[in-house]
Amino acid sequence: MIVTIDDNSGFCFGVTTAIETAERELQKGPLFCLGDIVHNGQEVNRLAHLGLETIDYDDLRSMRNVRVLLRAHGEPPSTYRIAQQNMIEIIDASCPVVLRLQKMIRDTYQNHVLNLRAKHSDQPIPQIVIFGQKGHAEVIGLEGQTNNTAIVIESLQDINKIDFTRPIYLFSQTTKSVEEFNAIVEEIQNRIANSEVHIQPSTFEYHDTICRNVANRVKRLQAFAQNNDVILFVGGKKSSNAKVLFQNCLEVNPCTIFVSNEADITVDILQQCHAANRVGICGATSTPKWLMEQIKTRIETNVPMAHTT
Ligand code: SF4
Repeated sequence: MIVTIDDNSGFCFGVTTAIETAERELQKGPLFCLGDIVHNGQEVNRLAHLGLETIDYDDLRSMRNVRVLLRAHGEPPSTYRIAQQNMIEIIDASCPVVLRLQKMIRDTYQNHVLNLRAKHSDQPIPQIVIFGQKGHAEVIGLEGQTNNTAIVIESLQDINKIDFTRPIYLFSQTTKSVEEFNAIVEEIQNRIANSEVHIQPSTFEYHDTICRNVANRVKRLQAFAQNNDVILFVGGKKSSNAKVLFQNCLEVNPCTIFVSNEADITVDILQQCHAANRVGICGATSTPKWLMEQIKTRIETNVPMAHTT
C-alpha cells in the first residue's frame, strides 16, 4: 500500500497569511479573532492553545481596547465602525482577493445605484446580485458593501429573485463553482432575451470573481482522486469548500471517504485502505497539511482508534 498526500491540497495563500498573522500577533499580546479563523476545528484548537480566542459580533460590540484579528473572509463596513467606536485595534488579515471583490461591489453600488438615486432619475434602479451562500462570512462582507441591498442567489433555482426588467450587475463569492456561475449567466441572458419588457442586453454586466486558487484545484484534485484506489478527503464539517471538493472527488472515485480527524479513522476504513494498492489523502483550502500528515501516519501504522462523532 502506497499512501500519498496531494501536493495541491491544503491552505490557500489567503488562509496561510491569516494564520501566520495570528501567530505573529499572538507573540505581542492577547488577540481575539472574529469568527473561526478557518473552517477547520483542529486548526482552530491549535491556535486556541497558542492563545487565540474566537469571538462573535455580540462580543465585539461589548469589548473595548482590545486587539481583534479579521480573518481571510473579510468583513462588512459595520465591523470597522464598531471597532472604531469601541477603540478596538483591528489586525486585518482579510484576503486581498476578497478585498478587491469588496471594492468592485462597493464601486458598482456607488456609481450605478446611489448616483442614480441621487439624480432622482426615472430610470430603473439597477440590482447588485451575488452568487454565494447566504449567511457565509464572505457573503455578509460583500452584502455590507451595498448597505445590505444586494440580492443573494445560492443556485440557479434562486434566479427568480431577480427583476429582469431592471439592470443587473452579477458577482460571485470567491469559492463558488465556475460551471454553476456560467450556467447562471446563461440563464439570465436567456431571460433578458425572452423578457416581454424590452431591455438592452448591455444592462446585464457580470464579473466572474471566483478565486482561481480554488477553481483551478478541482481538475487537479479529480486527477489525483482518479489515480488512487481509495481517497481520504480531510475537511472540517463546517467548511463549504470541503463539501464541494469532497463531491468533486466522489464524482470520479466512488471510494472517497470524508474524515475530519484521526478519530474518524475506523477499523472499516483501515481495512479498506490496506486492501488497496494506492491510498490518496487530500483536503480543502481550509485543511492544514499537518492534519493530512497525521492521517497518513495513522493509516500507515495501522492503529485503529475508537470512532467518535
Ligand atoms: S480561496 Fe482565494 S479568495 Fe478565498 S481566502 Fe483563499 S486565496 Fe483568498
